[in-house]
Amino acid sequence: MTPEELTPDSPFTLPGFFDALSDGRLVAAVCSCGEVLVPPRTACYACGGRDLELEDQPRTGEIYSYTEVRTAPPAFEDDAPYTVAVVELDSGARLLGRVDADYDAVAIGDDVELRVRDPTEAEREIALSHEQDWPIHVFETV
Ligand SMILES: [Zn+2]
Repeated sequence: MTPEELTPDSPFTLPGFFDALSDGRLVAAVCSCGEVLVPPRTACYACGGRDLELEDQPRTGEIYSYTEVRTAPPAFEDDAPYTVAVVELDSGARLLGRVDADYDAVAIGDDVELRVRDPTEAEREIALSHEQDWPIHVFETV
């Protein structure tokens, strides 16, 4: 990839990644070594290579690890307790996100599906000005 190819609307940038997510596309960069990077990066964090191709990702996967947030940041105090998880997508990529289920109702290996929604008022308040309209992803148990 040349610097000229890395435009602000490219999914290799966070604004481009979230624009694609707003349009319903979860995009990753897949390295020639097999690593899947979500969000896409211009260099692979496994091998350092730059031979990366954009690829749409499945919205389904399973809980790889999870925990409960009981002491939330001030902006999310009203949400606590809530569950967050590392989800391994069916492509092998791992992605962190909230789970729309109580901690006691979640287990490692549970099937989940990614849903995208608009940010809440609290999420908009803590976001940087250019991030305020970025969509929020949540994993739902299926
Ligand atoms: Zn690589």
